[in-house]
Amino acid sequence: MDTKQKYWNPVLETLPLEKIRQLQLKKFKQIFRWTYEHSKFHRQLYEQAGVKPDDIRSFEDIRQVPKVEKSMMRDIQRKEPFPYGDALCVPLEDVAVFRQTSGTTGQPVYQPDTWQDWEWWAECWSYILWAQGYRPQDRVFIPFGYNIFVAFWAGHYAAEKLGCEVVPGGVLDTKARILKIEELQATAMMGTPTYVLGMAETAKSKMGMDPSKLPIERITCAGECGASIPSTKRRMEQAWGAKVYDHAGATEIGAWSFECTAQSGGMHVNEALFLVEIEDVETGEIIDEPGQRGKMIITALDRQAQPCVRFDSKDVIEWADAPCACGRTTRLIKGGVVGRADDITKVKGVLLAPSAIEEVVRDIDGLGDEYEVVVQKDGDTDRIKLRVEVLPDAEDQCQLIENELVDQLRLKTNLRYDIEICGCETLPRYEVKAKRFKDLRKKE
Ligand SMILES: [Zn+2]
Repeated sequence: MDTKQKYWNPVLETLPLEKIRQLQLKKFKQIFRWTYEHSKFHRQLYEQAGVKPDDIRSFEDIRQVPKVEKSMMRDIQRKEPFPYGDALCVPLEDVAVFRQTSGTTGQPVYQPDTWQDWEWWAECWSYILWAQGYRPQDRVFIPFGYNIFVAFWAGHYAAEKLGCEVVPGGVLDTKARILKIEELQATAMMGTPTYVLGMAETAKSKMGMDPSKLPIERITCAGECGASIPSTKRRMEQAWGAKVYDHAGATEIGAWSFECTAQSGGMHVNEALFLVEIEDVETGEIIDEPGQRGKMIITALDRQAQPCVRFDSKDVIEWADAPCACGRTTRLIKGGVVGRADDITKVKGVLLAPSAIEEVVRDIDGLGDEYEVVVQKDGDTDRIKLRVEVLPDAEDQCQLIENELVDQLRLKTNLRYDIEICGCETLPRYEVKAKRFKDLRKKE
């Protein structure tokens, strides 16, 4: 691999859109036929809808293919044949890798992959890392125990595939990880935004270290929207003195999207490997034009053991209206994944995306990184309580901060909040993914 090469795959990343679409259609036909012929679950689903492999001739036809929801996968798993049920498309002995979803939205879903699928995972991540400037001279530190969650495993293998030197930071605690980064002079790191900010806080408050003095130059984020929220990204970049890049992926899907070094306010969809459709949540129509948000329906075009065909991801995205400055021809989604269809909720009749609150809180200088939002019923009205932490050197400016919060929140979300300003380090801390938004109305 020529390290001056700009793209991981110079052919596929610069194909004209028309050619990408031809390739996607061809690959969709193949993966649809594969699932139809090899999985009882998929075949039943498609027969009920009256769709056969020979019926797929255009993107219009693809829209007639039934979607698969996560709950459907949960229903068939752990049943006969154990443990993957009727969706497995290969003999059990061909399965080389077991992973599972994190279970943040319910019982985890198992994910089997063949060795070929696993090589495909590493290939997906190679596009990401190369686009974010990883090169063989990088020493990459991964500060997590990866366990059965897929993202950091795939990032790990891809970094090795690129020729980087990979340091797994598994069983160490946060302080030991920071010392290891310093000792080995690691240049790149992967993490969830919550943990990347948490590490910086630990370095500063518990170790008297300035993380921006460490040699980390680039950080790849996973697992949460934060790296696409401008104020959160800025906080991470300032704390670490590094470039922070977002990526999006999921255990059942693959790593389908990434920000490149041009940082043009969005993420590339890897369209040679995935077909992304955006569906209007109200009407079910497919949105092809920029500027309108909807939920993502996605197909992994090459994954075989437990395929992902028109999977209803619940990720909310929209197409960007301009191509990226980097020269890749694959389409961008504006502002990354803006939220989950499940999390976007109506409060007092107004649609609220929790990421909008994060954007405001982290844009205010005197506030810490943590916050907590609780929505509950007070009689017939919805109330939103927002707790934030004031930094020690801004304690005398609480009233100013509160006024700014109220103004900015009203401007960005059209809602009023009961604000509580708390002392430093009083709100809960999270190790990997955070749960900062609590909607108590759902339980009431
Ligand atoms: Zn780009």
